Amino acid sequence: MKAKKRSRLKKGKKLSVKKENGKSPKISKYWFQRYDLFSRYDQGIEMDEEGWYSVTPEEIAIRQAERCRGQLVIDCFSGVGGNTIQFAKLCSSVVAIDIDPVKVELAMNNAMVYGVAIRVDFVVGDFVHLAPSLKGDVVFLSPPWGGPMYKDVESYKMDMLQPRDGYTLFKIALSIAPNIIMFLPRNVDVAQVEELAWLSSPPLTLEIEENFVGGRMKAITAYFSCNAV
Ligand code: ADP
Repeated sequence: MKAKKRSRLKKGKKLSVKKENGKSPKISKYWFQRYDLFSRYDQGIEMDEEGWYSVTPEEIAIRQAERCRGQLVIDCFSGVGGNTIQFAKLCSSVVAIDIDPVKVELAMNNAMVYGVAIRVDFVVGDFVHLAPSLKGDVVFLSPPWGGPMYKDVESYKMDMLQPRDGYTLFKIALSIAPNIIMFLPRNVDVAQVEELAWLSSPPLTLEIEENFVGGRMKAITAYFSCNAV
């Protein structure tokens, strides 16, 4: 009898979660962290499924933007706009690029929620193709990590990044700006990250920051600079 009651309770709980957020079980995990992703989530933030996996938590995006105060930043894989919004608050201007027009629309909406859309040039396009026409102070690279599966490897390698390997993306970024910021999985091969600094002559300075949210390490940010960013 007792056992039956317990199982009923459990079922009830699950149902109310589904009703509350209307998200698939995969997305629910991210939905519970929604205020870590966007503190203004309740004021009209819009996401698609991919956006939930790949948006940078707000606390991390703020730290990254603080390093770029007053500069012209190119956010090359802007997704639903988590980084773009924070750059727009502190930087002189922001170019936000994404290949997916739906993401760009969502990012525009989300930037409006934060009142910063006016400070952003939104571009729908392939970063690799657009690169020759871009110039800025800082290139921010938060390229696709290959979905949530990145966690399954012990050591995440540069050739797992998309739409090109990390070395190629970095060389492209070097042709655009003297300062590059890369947002990478926490299990990335740090020796490979260090190699990137040597793709420039003289080599760039490199600072690696470990990014924590709620006491858990989520990612790393690599700051490359010809001076200090
Ligand atoms: P993750 O693997 O980290 O979840 P996504 O696959 O969601 O990353 O990709 C991050 C963002 O990069 C997406 O919004 C996607 O549309 C965008 N993107 C992918 N390829 C390109 C590209 N070639 N140029 C610009 N944006 C791109």
